[in-house]
Amino acid sequence: MSGDIVIIGGGLAGLTAANRAAELGLNPIVLEQGGDPQYFCNSRFAGGLLHVAFKDMTASPDDIVAAVEAAIDGDAATMNGAVMGREGGRALAWLRAEGARFIKGGSLEFMRWVLAPPRPRGAGLDWKGRGPDVLLRKLTANLAERGTTVRLNSRARELIVEDGRIAGIIVDDTRIDAGAVVIADGGFQANMDLMRRFISPQPERLLQRGAATGRGDGLLMAEAAGAKLVGMGRFYGHLLGREAFQNDKLWPYPIIDPIAASSIVVNEAGQRFLDEGMGGVHMANEVAKLDDPLTATVIFDDAVWNGLAADNRYPPCMNPVFVKAGGTVLEAGDLASLAQAAGLSAEGLAKTVADHNAAIEGSGGGWSPSRTTNRFKPQPIATPPFRAIPICAGITYTMGGVAIDGDSRVQHRDDGVIPGLFAAGSASGGMEGGANAAYLGGLAKAVITGLRAAEAAAGENKAAA
Ligand SMILES: Cc1cc2nc3c(=O)[nH]c(=O)nc-3n(C[C@H](O)[C@H](O)[C@H](O)COP(=O)(O)OP(=O)(O)OC[C@H]3O[C@@H](n4cnc5c(N)ncnc54)[C@H](O)[C@@H]3O)c2cc1C
Repeated sequence: MSGDIVIIGGGLAGLTAANRAAELGLNPIVLEQGGDPQYFCNSRFAGGLLHVAFKDMTASPDDIVAAVEAAIDGDAATMNGAVMGREGGRALAWLRAEGARFIKGGSLEFMRWVLAPPRPRGAGLDWKGRGPDVLLRKLTANLAERGTTVRLNSRARELIVEDGRIAGIIVDDTRIDAGAVVIADGGFQANMDLMRRFISPQPERLLQRGAATGRGDGLLMAEAAGAKLVGMGRFYGHLLGREAFQNDKLWPYPIIDPIAASSIVVNEAGQRFLDEGMGGVHMANEVAKLDDPLTATVIFDDAVWNGLAADNRYPPCMNPVFVKAGGTVLEAGDLASLAQAAGLSAEGLAKTVADHNAAIEGSGGGWSPSRTTNRFKPQPIATPPFRAIPICAGITYTMGGVAIDGDSRVQHRDDGVIPGLFAAGSASGGMEGGANAAYLGGLAKAVITGLRAAEAAAGENKAAA
């Protein structure tokens, strides 16, 4: 069997690469491990908000690049982030030409382009017939019109490398010859060995906030072929109520990030251990690094619970959705009683809250660890009743991965690229993550890197002909 280009994974990155490759005259073969025509993948479960660094995709490329650069802050693990800024507008235009439909989902800038129909602002997972599911089905249909079907039940695990370049892939003992392979398998969040190697000492204690289909197969294949890996320690995820392990209504929404970013997150000693002001993705990463990631608790007061936690611009708002869905919000009239209810050191919590309130007032010794204050305004913990939510870190996808250049070509760990090998979407590394755990937009990354991979492969194919 042979094709011009084999694509591993039928998520948004893979279907984008396949359709673009077919548009450019290549014969693509798409391998998908899932067996159901509506196979699970993160793309199908997504909220459907298309943005780059929370910017409107039709903003000027310079504005989007500036937002990207502010987010990644020059970190070497995100050396290709600017590609996302430059290519965002084109990615949106390409999707619309493929038949993607969008609505404006809310007043905030990153909600300008939401795949239609949108998911309701409720708790739990709701994907069937929603915008991202509709888009995947549309891209699959477009591919069929272009003469290619997605091969289900096809888990790729072995690359063929000949004379230093990619010659194809082996699936279920069948050799498929192809001059180009695109790894678009969605990351390594569901591979506990890789997770332990790079993300958390106890990965089983992170909640899989997604389809859990990214098993790192592409990464392992690429690594064996000499690929450079980059930014491996960071993931995209959010803080969730701890009962999300038992209660499916508590993931992927509502998320606890807005409360935590304005309040404090403490360990069992009642002490802060992270910079809440860096936002939810950063906090989820820090919680994951704890010896036991299931020991973190958010502490806040009544003003926050009835203020920003009830702000329905951030769908779905925590108050009242979280409690109605079965989440635990502990409540007490004083901090000592709250500490007891939450299993925290009362002495430790009293000191942490006093230090926090003093730091907001500008007195005392400030925050330790330090706290970023220009992204999310810290709120005092002063108005009873006081509240606590036991939390967990939810992982959606790993942000590091196989290092690619701006054309989605996989870089060799020694020098140059591995000829014929590409990576796209959450399998690719070098755009998001880094010290800030910068999140630039998983859907946009899938489309942009998928387009770039197909175009670069088509260019190489033409040059070789
Ligand atoms: C709940 C949720 C909400 C989200 N909301 C948003 C949002 O609003 N905006 C946004 O920008 N991003 C969002 N994201 C992130 C976004 O969905 C992903 O970043 C993006 O869809 C990744 O696309 P992908 O194609 O790289 O991976 P995936 O969609 O995960 O696709 C990878 C595919 O590869 C297949 N595969 C894996 N291994 C193999 C193998 N060895 N052989 C063959 N096939 C294989 C998998 O089965 C899967 O179908 C959200 C994600 C989730 C889970």
